[in-house]
Amino acid sequence: MMAAGRAAERGKSVLLLEKNPDLGAKLKITGGGRCNITNAEEDEQKLLGHYGKAKSALHSPFSQFGVKDTFSFFESRDLPLVVQRYSRVFPKTERAVDVFRVLEKYLKQGGVEVRTNMSVKKIKAENGHINAVVVDDKEIVASSFILATGGKSHPETGSTGDGFLWLSLLGHTVKEPTPAIVPVAVRDEWIKKLAGVSLPAVRISFFIEKKRKFILKGDIACTHFGLSGPLIMNSAGNVADLLHEGMVTVEIDAYPQKDIGSLDKLIVSVFDMHKNKSLKSVWNDIAPIGTGRALLPLLKDIASDTRVNSITKEQRRQIVDLLKALPVTITGLMGYDRAVVSDGGLLLEEVDTRTMCSRKYANLYITGDLLHINRPSGGYSLQLCWTTGYVAGNNA
Ligand SMILES: Cc1cc2nc3c(=O)[nH]c(=O)nc-3n(C[C@H](O)[C@H](O)[C@H](O)COP(=O)(O)OP(=O)(O)OC[C@H]3O[C@@H](n4cnc5c(N)ncnc54)[C@H](O)[C@@H]3O)c2cc1C
Repeated sequence: MMAAGRAAERGKSVLLLEKNPDLGAKLKITGGGRCNITNAEEDEQKLLGHYGKAKSALHSPFSQFGVKDTFSFFESRDLPLVVQRYSRVFPKTERAVDVFRVLEKYLKQGGVEVRTNMSVKKIKAENGHINAVVVDDKEIVASSFILATGGKSHPETGSTGDGFLWLSLLGHTVKEPTPAIVPVAVRDEWIKKLAGVSLPAVRISFFIEKKRKFILKGDIACTHFGLSGPLIMNSAGNVADLLHEGMVTVEIDAYPQKDIGSLDKLIVSVFDMHKNKSLKSVWNDIAPIGTGRALLPLLKDIASDTRVNSITKEQRRQIVDLLKALPVTITGLMGYDRAVVSDGGLLLEEVDTRTMCSRKYANLYITGDLLHINRPSGGYSLQLCWTTGYVAGNNA
């Protein structure tokens, strides 16, 4: 939509083909329906650092349409933006559909012809030149073609990876896509029982065969299949690597700000206040908020109806050890249906990022999730779409 709108703004005659009945299915579910539209990192070096190895190739397109341009593009079209935690930017209305409406209007104002329910099946090319796309056995010709068919995450929104196949058939190199920015599946029932509960500001250590591999700090969320939340989703790539090495176990420190001694003191003070009560009846004063009694069965040697005044120092230590290292076993990454983006796609070396033009076809432009550019969650994906879409539309 950004690419089509920009090309039309330049006076080009633009036809936008969409296989769904409506445009923007994925855009409308971004950020849980709130749309994390960009990231307000002001330092461009730092911002581009979030795109990994693609950093150097992105200077040019970001200089043509960067974060500031995203702000002015949407705000000048009556969509005020607000910066929230971790520099994430949302429309003030917190409605992704309002972002969609701005782009819809952009298309209308430029006179873009939109044809929905039009699934492109094939791309026809000859001698480094794209001649036509094939829809319903009919060829549609044009002087330039912009591919914006997305990646493979949430295929129900229409992104089924068609563009990866076309690009491969055209002789481009496409890194096999895998789900990225994705939650993880776990074996442990206690996590699944806590579906919907967030554990803020925890510290998680990841292990392979008891060897600590890395530690992360931040907020996590329990789901009916495992663990989610930005911290988990952004480390999915590293977890995928670990899963190749062996069984991945995790320890969640629910109280990273307290050392063993001060957590024990907290427990002693709770026990002192409720001397004749059972462990289960005071448990909520000890366990992380929202976890209820789900963690109690993990205390193998202490019955939940034990009176707190009979709990020994060693048993207290077991409670401390549990809360400082809640055990979880990761069984794998979730699939495309839960991934924010797919890792993989067209190798950036094969695109002139100053124009987003293919280096093999002089009239083919490639944008957004089709490109092999790793990035975390936080608005970086949509910013990449605005940037590459604008630059493609500016040059096609
Ligand atoms: C649940 C979820 C939440 C997200 N939240 C955020 C967020 O808050 N912030 C952020 O920065 N990023 C977010 N993302 C990532 C972001 O949505 C994507 O990076 C972005 O939508 C990619 O845009 P795109 O134009 O490349 O492709 P898409 O948005 O996937 O659009 C591709 C379009 O091409 C159409 N198409 C595909 N094949 C064909 C064909 N053969 N013929 C015709 N049309 C076709 C599809 O129907 C689709 O409409 C989220 C992703 C998901 C799945």
